[in-house]
Amino acid sequence: MKLGIVIEIFKNVFTKPMTVLFPFERIEIPERNRGEHEFNIDTCISCGACARICPNLAIKMIEVPSELREKYPKTYPQVDLGKCCFCALCEDICPKGSIKLTTNFYFATFDKDDTILYPVKAE
Ligand code: SF4
Ligand code: SF4
Repeated sequence: MKLGIVIEIFKNVFTKPMTVLFPFERIEIPERNRGEHEFNIDTCISCGACARICPNLAIKMIEVPSELREKYPKTYPQVDLGKCCFCALCEDICPKGSIKLTTNFYFATFDKDDTILYPVKAE
């Protein structure tokens, strides 16, 4: 074995690993990381701009469950994270700041329905 390789091995044996034991340990995510969406139905004006600008057709404007329609009578964005490329154009275009991408990227699931973000959950 070449001396250079041996030196490299010894250097790495005594240095801190570059990786962490995810999911037990997590690294700090930069605040501008683009992850899962956060939606505020109370400020949304149902203009549909987010759905129109989405390049992946990941946003559909839908009605809320019938028991909430009196309070929220229009249509609101439903995001399919399975189609999303996290470009954040929906956030940029929203005139009310109602849709924002958060730092949460941890949404691995076995159930495809879990990747759908509904505008509001039935009470
Ligand atoms: S981040 Fe981009 S791809 Fe994802 S829902 Fe928004 S506009 Fe569509
Ligand atoms: S989230 Fe914003 S862009 Fe989308 S419908 Fe509501 S107000 Fe319009």
